[in-house]
Amino acid sequence: MGSRWRLLDTCLFLALLPDAGPLNGESLLIMAHALRSTRVLTPNGFVRATVLIDQESIAAILPWEETPAGAHLHDFVDDLLLPGLVDSHVHINEPGRTEWEGFHTATQAAAAGGVTTLVDMPLNCIPETIDVPALNAKRSAAEGKAWVDWAAWGGVVRGNAEQLPALAKSRIPGFKCFLIHSGIDGFAWVDESDLHLAMEKLRGSSLPLLAHAEVSGPVDRATQSLNAEGSDWRKYATYLASRPDSAEIDAIALLVRLAEEFGARIHIVHLASAQALPLLAAARKRGLPITVETCVQYLWFAAEQIPDCATQYKCAPPIRNAANREELWDALERGLIDMVTTDHSPCPPAMKRREEGRWDQAWGGIASLGLALPVLNTAMARRGIKLERISEWMAAAPAQLAGLSQRKGAIAPGSDADFAVFNPDTEWTVTPADLHFRHKLSPYIGAKLRGRVRETWLRGEPVFSEGRFIGAARGREQVRS
Ligand SMILES: [Zn+2]
Repeated sequence: MGSRWRLLDTCLFLALLPDAGPLNGESLLIMAHALRSTRVLTPNGFVRATVLIDQESIAAILPWEETPAGAHLHDFVDDLLLPGLVDSHVHINEPGRTEWEGFHTATQAAAAGGVTTLVDMPLNCIPETIDVPALNAKRSAAEGKAWVDWAAWGGVVRGNAEQLPALAKSRIPGFKCFLIHSGIDGFAWVDESDLHLAMEKLRGSSLPLLAHAEVSGPVDRATQSLNAEGSDWRKYATYLASRPDSAEIDAIALLVRLAEEFGARIHIVHLASAQALPLLAAARKRGLPITVETCVQYLWFAAEQIPDCATQYKCAPPIRNAANREELWDALERGLIDMVTTDHSPCPPAMKRREEGRWDQAWGGIASLGLALPVLNTAMARRGIKLERISEWMAAAPAQLAGLSQRKGAIAPGSDADFAVFNPDTEWTVTPADLHFRHKLSPYIGAKLRGRVRETWLRGEPVFSEGRFIGAARGREQVRS
């Protein structure tokens, strides 16, 4: 190992030493860390710098040569020092469905991928996060299990309008709703009149409403005619045809109306159809407060490459064709799509029904937490897109959506000292052993990627280094500031 790791090893040694007495522990706490790299990604792009940490926060960004006396220097040489990533769309499934996923495994997968803040979706847990008692149950369930920081979206479902003001006061970052069946019976989807009720209750709150933007009409009609034709549900083409672009377009038109009528802050989760982009561009042009995310899987895979029966690729909306994928990239580069999330949504492998390979019977959701950074790095290098954009798409913009940008999403003085140390050139192939989430089933297995997370820091201390988790689960809930 080169000299750059020597100081770090000493530090870790002290941190890991089981019987390092209180003296060692205390001296570690008061000694500042200084992180140095020739490529530190700040809001102004990559700079040569030394980042000085004061306890849990970034104290200063100093010239590269400057290391304050007494600070522990961690010299990452030419590896990239990136802001800890923020993934605002993750299904942690706890409490209640820990056989699917849970705080421990989801947050370790995040830490291994340089992700230091997760925002959990409200539907897969039991109880669903649709009132304050359910939120409190989630808060208790997370205690002592989170390896990275987290927050929880609340849910807007049919019939819970009365619960929304109290949930909003509980300092959640915002709300999520479905315009089509969510797959979870306890998380009822809403139509336009339900949303009017909800918006009335939330009037005056600045919290965003996140929406799964597909409506059921076009999906039901397409499914009926596919069934009438006797289509083969083992074919990916059948599944793709069952969730047409028009389901997304009609949903987004509805959400644009809502933004217009209520001035509501709307966020479109996992946009898959590039055909909806003109509608979004027009709404933005009119100044409506609408933000948009797409997901890693829509930027990486294409329908043409998905084998029949390979239900590990099933998600909704579905992965569309390669031309559509390139239009999503273009919109991301132009800033019409604001951010990239994973929509990590795992389930027990049996629920993917891979023996039958029927797309209509398999659970929808792709497991990918921890892989987003190398996947995007690989895809961006192929397209000649500068890696700088990562900090906007996968850190600053999702932090802002979740109301966390005062402390998360940027390497800047005053922000939490959250970092991903990333070697962008390492080439590797994804194997099940590289996955840290509960069930090692993912369409990315076998993918040849470029770039690897070497180390992850959470609020001033490393939590993951060279394949190992360090210390204890120190993650905390983050509330909107
Ligand atoms: Zn989702």
